[in-house]
Amino acid sequence: SSDVEAAKRVVSDLRDACATPATTLDAVAAAMVGEMDAGLAAEGGSSKVKMIVTFVDALPNGGEEGSFYALDLGGTNFRVLRVRLAGGGGVAERVAREVPIPHRLMSGDDATSENLFDFIASALAEFVADEEGRDGDGGDGERMRELGFTFSFPVRQTSIASGKLIRWTKAFAVDDAVGEDVVAALQAAMSKHGLHNMRVSALINDTVGTLATGSYYDDDTVAAVILGTGTNAAYIESTNAIAKLSSPPAELGNSSNTMVINTEWGGFDSPFLPTTEYDQALDAESLNPGEQTYEKLISGLYLGDIVRRVLLKISTKSSLLGGGDTDLLTTRFVLTTPDVSSMHHDETPDLAIVADKLAEKLNIRGTSLETRRMVVEICDIVATRSARLAAAGIVGILRKIGRGGAGDERRSVVAVDGGLFEHYAKFRQCMESTLEEMLGEEAAARMFIKLANDGSGLGAALVAAAYSQS
Ligand code: ADP
Ligand code: MG
Repeated sequence: SSDVEAAKRVVSDLRDACATPATTLDAVAAAMVGEMDAGLAAEGGSSKVKMIVTFVDALPNGGEEGSFYALDLGGTNFRVLRVRLAGGGGVAERVAREVPIPHRLMSGDDATSENLFDFIASALAEFVADEEGRDGDGGDGERMRELGFTFSFPVRQTSIASGKLIRWTKAFAVDDAVGEDVVAALQAAMSKHGLHNMRVSALINDTVGTLATGSYYDDDTVAAVILGTGTNAAYIESTNAIAKLSSPPAELGNSSNTMVINTEWGGFDSPFLPTTEYDQALDAESLNPGEQTYEKLISGLYLGDIVRRVLLKISTKSSLLGGGDTDLLTTRFVLTTPDVSSMHHDETPDLAIVADKLAEKLNIRGTSLETRRMVVEICDIVATRSARLAAAGIVGILRKIGRGGAGDERRSVVAVDGGLFEHYAKFRQCMESTLEEMLGEEAAARMFIKLANDGSGLGAALVAAAYSQS
């Protein structure tokens, strides 16, 4: 029928607009290298890839010992951790608590810097009280506890333990915190909650934490990538390649001649990126229009909503999706990336999981098997574009540091953290096969993508340990 034809047209237009042939991926990788170069050239330059100097010049080497705390704020939940490092490269103990952040503290009228940091410090204080006596201070509260703070938003770092928020991303919009030193804000809130015997020894980003975790376990780790609510990457750069580094490396106490760079690649944009009308609408209605273009094509916060927008379009062109009430279909973020993942992996003969998700999340019932197949294909198109673009970014970083070329015999490890990579098998497989496609089989055999589970949280404790002042 013409109904089916109209829906099929929407899907085939989507397939064309989202195509990522080898030539496109190669151009994206090259453009990523160009933006990385531009970002390293000058502070506050025009590059959308900020290439933030992290002040992390020494990654943990496995010899660290003692109990360290970490806070991980950056996505949907925040985590509080205590880890005990045994020396000899081992994590002897790891206690973690996950706390959901109330939406009213992420954006809107109640979302002030004071309220947000107060909430975080209060959860931290509660956790520290519960861990009291178990963390090796003998319960006398005398020992200064050290905390690594993972704050996964673009920060202009001023030292290893201070930095000012450049802007929010993802679902956060706490306006009065922009320009503020986030460690000072946290430390003030900690004092208010009686955490006087705890100091923030390191301010890092989830990518840097993941890189630290990766290199703690494997010396050949050269880069780290986050594929969760948002996306970002960090890597180890030689200091002489960082033109904008204002103080000479010696003044930074740098003996390694290397520096971790937090790329903030989520801000990457390029005419080579394949985008659609759905991406444009999503961007226009987002908290940060015109920004984080690459992130909006790739990360978990957005994939579900892109799929929803395509389904909405189909519902306006045909009656295949129930044809009735579209209230839910017009509601942003009702369909999540975990929903997309479950539909994409549905292996029941009648696509029962797709039917369930459509009913439960969108109130769409009575679809034909053919329509449900179409929904799976939409998930596949959107996830495939995401995974292939993420792979192109990784190839860009490898090219930037001269890794993964034909004659390169070294092992290279990229540590990855984030729920999208961890839980979405088809995404992960597609990303890995695209890397092989881009690098060639031989070079890809020396490239290892390793899941660094909760690398962002553990990494903050590891960097705090590496920069411990006691
Ligand atoms: P964050 O990025 O918030 O620190 P995570 O790394 O845990 O946290 O990633 C959470 C994100 O991962 C979610 O926003 C979601 O988009 C994505 N995710 C979680 N579970 C799945 C899943 N089963 N399939 C696909 N994506 C998932
Ligand atoms: Mg995270």
